[in-house]
Amino acid sequence: MKKYFMLLCCFILTTGCFTKNKTKNIHTIIEEEKNILVGINYPITNYKKLDTIIEQDVANIYEEFKSQYETLNNLQEQSELNIDYTYEIVNNRYSNVTLYIYINSSILANPISYMKSYVFDQKQNKLLTIHDIITDDNFSKYIAILKTKLIQQYGECILLDQVKATITMNYSYPLFTFDHEALTTYFNPNEVTASYCDIIDIEIPLNSLELKIPITNETKTHTVIEFVANPRILDPSKKVIALTFDDGPSKYTEEILDILNENNAYATFFVIGNKVQIYSETLQKMVQFGNEIGNHSYNHKWLTKLNPTDLEEQITKTQDIIKQITGYTPTIIRPTYGSISQKLRKQLSLDVIMWTVDTSDWKYKSIDRIVKNATTNIKDLDIILMHDTHERTVSALKKIIPILKEQGFEFVTISELKEIKILREQAE
Ligand code: ZN
Repeated sequence: MKKYFMLLCCFILTTGCFTKNKTKNIHTIIEEEKNILVGINYPITNYKKLDTIIEQDVANIYEEFKSQYETLNNLQEQSELNIDYTYEIVNNRYSNVTLYIYINSSILANPISYMKSYVFDQKQNKLLTIHDIITDDNFSKYIAILKTKLIQQYGECILLDQVKATITMNYSYPLFTFDHEALTTYFNPNEVTASYCDIIDIEIPLNSLELKIPITNETKTHTVIEFVANPRILDPSKKVIALTFDDGPSKYTEEILDILNENNAYATFFVIGNKVQIYSETLQKMVQFGNEIGNHSYNHKWLTKLNPTDLEEQITKTQDIIKQITGYTPTIIRPTYGSISQKLRKQLSLDVIMWTVDTSDWKYKSIDRIVKNATTNIKDLDIILMHDTHERTVSALKKIIPILKEQGFEFVTISELKEIKILREQAE
């Protein structure tokens, strides 16, 4: 039997590493019901007090969304809740978390979007208010700068009467974050702007304010990534399947990578962009072990509902962060919730990859049921859908691989699956 070679990209990390992030954990909730789509990601910071507050806030938003939209009976009335986050460790004392909440529904004229922010002081074990940061003497200066910048930068959106009424010494300025360079204050739509305007952020350089808190600058490390091409043998006479994992990476992904590696199996991971930075080492391992990475949007938004600018942002931001962390640029995408239209297909420059076998591992708690779904009536060239965000998926995979091996299957990536199809056509 003639063997065929295919180039597989491997990567060598030459210097530095991503040690900046103390967390190794993101909480993910992805739900797809008849008329409700939920995509939530928020960080677990391992500061118990902060985590409890964030968790409670997310739970409240989720419950309120469900109570308002779940009871809509008409299937045309689809609604989406999306929560995205940023998590920034300023230094070993302070960290910032922001949550971005987005609700879209066919019963709304415009999507609702707003944010929450949390500035945490680990030493005092408490959330900071703006008054913990800016001295009383400086506060009127802060307000003056804020007003000037608001009017300069967001002139057409500003409601002047509301600016006057809101931006005062008595307002609590609940939305802010800071880093080594600037203090950023945020306003949600309707606070000082018209409701159709975006969330507004005003950056004030730290050197123009006197702060109560000490901040020292830290040097950042850089990672240089090199490509090395290794050949992998593809045998088009063998029965092959592609295991695919959506919605990760997560704390379970590393174990999945090890199981695959021990079994000489390769898979494809459709990752969510906003999780890539925190799980950077997992992403690098994914590529080093010869797996493929695909795009699954930046924060699991419902792609068919997005305008072209937001769609482009969802795709490009994910491509960029994957490239930055691994040196690899994905060529494939799996649309969130498996929702695809002709229009979306045309808008995407990446190859759209769906699946032929759904294990429903996100829905079923029973490991045996997931195993059964993944191993019954499996055919050559099948694409199997799983999610590397559940512990039960890891347990199921340990059983699935030997059963499918026994049935004579080899485990290849999506690109290899395509390559094998081409090789077979050529051989005919
Ligand atoms: Zn998904």
